[in-house]
Amino acid sequence: MAAIDANLQAVAARIRDAARACGRDPSVVRLLAVTKTVPPAAIEAAFAAGQRGFGENYVQEALDKQSALAASGIKSQIEWHLIGPLQSNKTRSAAECFDWVHTIDREKVARRLSEARPPEAVPLNVLVQVNVSGEASKSGVAPGEVAALARVVVQMPRLRLRGLMAIPEPTSDATVQQARFESVRALFDRLNEEGYALDTLSMGMSEDLEAAVAAGSTMVRVGTAIFGVRARQRAAA
Ligand SMILES: *Cc1c(COP(=O)(O)O)cnc(C)c1O
Repeated sequence: MAAIDANLQAVAARIRDAARACGRDPSVVRLLAVTKTVPPAAIEAAFAAGQRGFGENYVQEALDKQSALAASGIKSQIEWHLIGPLQSNKTRSAAECFDWVHTIDREKVARRLSEARPPEAVPLNVLVQVNVSGEASKSGVAPGEVAALARVVVQMPRLRLRGLMAIPEPTSDATVQQARFESVRALFDRLNEEGYALDTLSMGMSEDLEAAVAAGSTMVRVGTAIFGVRARQRAAA
């Protein structure tokens, strides 16, 4: 578990270097620790090292870990982010158990989340997911439809629209990669010019966080570089 502490510091250093290299203030880029397939003990280790924001891909997996972390009091001190696709039959649990949802890609899911958000909780922070690579298999809305979805989401009483999220398809072509991140940034800037006051651009992972930070990311989602290669990734390699 000492490795987790060292890895967190190494990732923080990468973020700092990337931000400084392009003249950005490193403190505006938050690190989200992505814990899909990662056991509660590793979350505790990251928490002990000072990490507070955690991202999970599956609602049920997150609920199981939250139960495991409730007794120690850690659960309530963590900011929980849902970063995986959300099925409409999971919206109630998601609205109750997360602080953020990064994957809003249709009005129906947003409306259900707003309706299910408990009245005593602060509004749920949400991001509209942009499908920047244009692949049929990936979730997210097409860039041309982001503004229309943002317009409805921002009206929903129990949601707080904070910005955009994207997962550009991996590519070894640094120019293409940069262009994809920049295109999300351009959409983000355009919405703010229309008066939205968005503050969060969730993009960048273990392999590409430098490019994302250079394009203006304010939240990088990092799993492998903190917790090591996941079992499924290992099997595929
Ligand atoms: C798994 C995942 C990450 C983290 O990816 P790594 O390459 O392990 O850093 C980030 N965002 C999403 C949406 C993910 O599913």
